[in-house]
Amino acid sequence: MSISSEDQRIRQLRPAKRPLDAWRPIGVQQEVERNAEGDLVPCATIFLTGRECPFTCVFCDLWQYTLDGPTPPGAIPAQISQAFEDLGEIPSGATIKLYNASNFFDDKAVPRADWSAIAELLTSCSRVVVECHPRLVGDGCREFAELLQGRLEVAMGLETVHPVALPRLNKKLSLESFGRAATLLQSFGVGIRSFVLVGAPFIPEAEMVEWAIRSVDYAQQHGSKMVSLIPVRSGNGEMQRLADLGVSSPPTVKLLEEALDGAMRLDQGVVLADLWDAENLGGCSECRRARIERMDRLNRDGSGQPPVTCPVCDRAD
Ligand code: SF4
Ligand SMILES: [Zn+2]
Repeated sequence: MSISSEDQRIRQLRPAKRPLDAWRPIGVQQEVERNAEGDLVPCATIFLTGRECPFTCVFCDLWQYTLDGPTPPGAIPAQISQAFEDLGEIPSGATIKLYNASNFFDDKAVPRADWSAIAELLTSCSRVVVECHPRLVGDGCREFAELLQGRLEVAMGLETVHPVALPRLNKKLSLESFGRAATLLQSFGVGIRSFVLVGAPFIPEAEMVEWAIRSVDYAQQHGSKMVSLIPVRSGNGEMQRLADLGVSSPPTVKLLEEALDGAMRLDQGVVLADLWDAENLGGCSECRRARIERMDRLNRDGSGQPPVTCPVCDRAD
């Protein structure tokens, strides 16, 4: 895919990228995650270093964890081996997420010649999650799934179903292409999880929660058993420009929590709030910690958490 003039404009507004070692993962993380059956399962995420995603979404903050050129052959298996050493013992049957801040099924990001070596390293895992733009979902997903002992799950960014915002995100994604990818993955027996934005630009603040919930509903209707709500983060030059134009405002912790509560009420599958860096979201400082802790418990338990009542912002409402 070639880089358009709009992509170039967005890229030029970004701060400088720090150089990365193609042979080392960005990091690793161990946690427990609620699966579609409601059980808590051990889960390890390996943040891989690799080629930058060609799509250049206006809100993307993942580019900073990528290489300018193609991922060298052999580098991804080497990074996974390194990550397993760093993690120590991985419980048998764990879920492994291979997140490469890009698209697993882009041959320049994860060379196909490395797939067998990758699958070999993951034989003890019951579930392998990779991320990919819906337009790059194709037969390769089935071929990689067949190499694995465990089940493949593909995480796709739906972002929003808002009819004005989605085309303006520069993701080059339509609801039709998301639906096509979801249908294809289901026909392969591959699992689907989705990312939905909270606070997407071009959506009025008063409608952000409603559109996040509608987007979760759409993803679930298209086979997503898990949906992660991602609060849009600033720090990307284009997002600052959109904020200055008055068409983007950063989501608050309370907004994320309202979206999580509303999406959980749909009761159609697991919905998680992405709490990475949540401390830096805007909003009332009086109740921020309590709301983050409540969402953390909801991520684990799924329900049954009494609402946070804040003497400052609830009175202001
Ligand atoms: S598709 Fe994902 S990784 Fe690629 S530019 Fe968009 S947000 Fe970033
Ligand atoms: Zn408050």
